[in-house]
Amino acid sequence: MELTDSAEQGSLEAIASQQRLRLRRLGMAMGSYLFTFAMVLMWWGFGFLDGIVVLQWSVFSICVNLIFLGLILNNINLRLRDPSLTVPQIVTSLIPSLFVMYHLDAGQARAIMMLLCVIPVLYGILGLDFRRLMIVMIWIVASYAALMGVLFWSRPDVLDGSMELMQFLMLILVGSQLALLGGYISTLRDHLRSRNEALQDALTRINELAARDPLTGIYNRRHLMTSLADVVAVDEQQRRCSVCMLDIDHFKALNDSFGHQAGDQALCAVADLIQNNVRASDVFGRYGGEEFLLILPDTGADGALSKAERLREQIARLVLPALPSAYRVSVSVGIAEHCPEESMDDTIKRADAALYQAKEAGRNQVCLAEA
Ligand code: GH3
Ligand code: MG
Ligand code: MG
Repeated sequence: MELTDSAEQGSLEAIASQQRLRLRRLGMAMGSYLFTFAMVLMWWGFGFLDGIVVLQWSVFSICVNLIFLGLILNNINLRLRDPSLTVPQIVTSLIPSLFVMYHLDAGQARAIMMLLCVIPVLYGILGLDFRRLMIVMIWIVASYAALMGVLFWSRPDVLDGSMELMQFLMLILVGSQLALLGGYISTLRDHLRSRNEALQDALTRINELAARDPLTGIYNRRHLMTSLADVVAVDEQQRRCSVCMLDIDHFKALNDSFGHQAGDQALCAVADLIQNNVRASDVFGRYGGEEFLLILPDTGADGALSKAERLREQIARLVLPALPSAYRVSVSVGIAEHCPEESMDDTIKRADAALYQAKEAGRNQVCLAEA
């Protein structure tokens, strides 16, 4: 339950950080609108454009950006297939520019404006694959062609035939190269991402291997000792915590009589049984040869006693294929409840001393250390 909560928390944080990134990108796009605005203003100053066109351009641009801002701030973009809104932003950024171009009489001014239209594609290179970049470029070329058509139909006098054709071809050439370059960058990005994921997987596997005992598959002593630090930190928040030290009885004799493989099988069976009967919050591992350490957070001496007693009984009933059918393995257990003023090392020492007492008292039993 706690695990699912923290996973959910993690993914929520990831989404929030992606949304912040999208807002930053929108801010950058607004910046490039400001550049275009400066240019539009200049043309108005030089008498290329009417004031009303500048006003219309400004109102449209502000509205478009406010809509994108609203979509991101209200997380509506998250319901869309591409929450980054890259393609819609590039495509709509073209509309006010086309509008200005329609009102410009000078072919050279339109060429400059066309250059500005390509800038949003540069933003796309950072986030789109080749196919989407191609769609964007085709949209730009088609929109420009449509503009030429409209101008040819309504104001043919402002068009300079061969020059317009040259400009149009330039747009196609530059656009295709941008799409190709963007596609290449997108492939590199994919490579990098999958390499990163593979590395991350390998690192997780290495960490897991480094924390496990190769024979039994349970945590090893190294991992137990690092986990102890976490348990102590929680314990300092006034919670109780107990430590159980378990040791297989007469294990040397078992090895000597039935062979090392039978001994290994007994170790694995005991480890499996305990591992399958503890809580996810408990920390369990192989402490040494045939010794196991079980840390029970949030558990007092009485709770630990009954837990250890249950485990001892279950182990005493284990039947192992490698051993004669009447042979039973047993464990002795020493328990110590962690005292607030003592170190975990000292708690383990007391559990060890209690284990020694259990051995002295005849084995196959649980002994509790005095506080
Ligand atoms: P006690 O009841 O007092 O605990 O006696 P014991 O024989 O269990 O304890 P002792 O410490 O004398 O012997 C432990 C044995 O555990 C000796 C060692 O060979 C064996 N052992 C340690 N690690 C492994 C292992 O990985 N596999 C096998 N098969 N035996 C192991
Ligand atoms: Mg032993
Ligand atoms: Mg031992």
